[in-house]
Amino acid sequence: MFIQKLFKPLSYTNETPLMTSQTTGGSEIRTLRCEVDRLHMIVEALWSFIQELTGYSDNELIQRITEIDLRDGKLDGKSAPKEKSTVFCHECNRPLSKNKPVCIYCGTSVSIDPF
Ligand SMILES: [Zn+2]
Repeated sequence: MFIQKLFKPLSYTNETPLMTSQTTGGSEIRTLRCEVDRLHMIVEALWSFIQELTGYSDNELIQRITEIDLRDGKLDGKSAPKEKSTVFCHECNRPLSKNKPVCIYCGTSVSIDPF
C-alpha cells in the first residue's frame, strides 16, 4: 500500500537491525516496532479520511512531504529539527516551560507547539 512505502523507516528493516545485540535492546526494538506499526495504521486511517474529504492524491501528499523534507535543504527523509528558542509568556514575560499548557509563574494559558 502507498502509505507503507512512506513509512518504512530507514533503520527498521530485518536486513539492517537497529542493534546487533539480542539482549535488552531486542525487546526495546520490538516495543518500538509495535508503536511504529500502530502509528502507521493511524496515519493510514487519517490519510484515507483526508482523501475522501478533500480528494487530494497520493502524488500531492508526496509533493508536500518532499517540500517539508527540503526545508533544511537536504532531501534525506527527515524533517528539519526545529530551533528550540526560548519562548516568553505574553503576560509576565518570563520564560515558558516546554510542554506546559500554562505559564508556571502567572498561570496564563499558552499554546503548545504540536510538533
Ligand atoms: Zn506568565
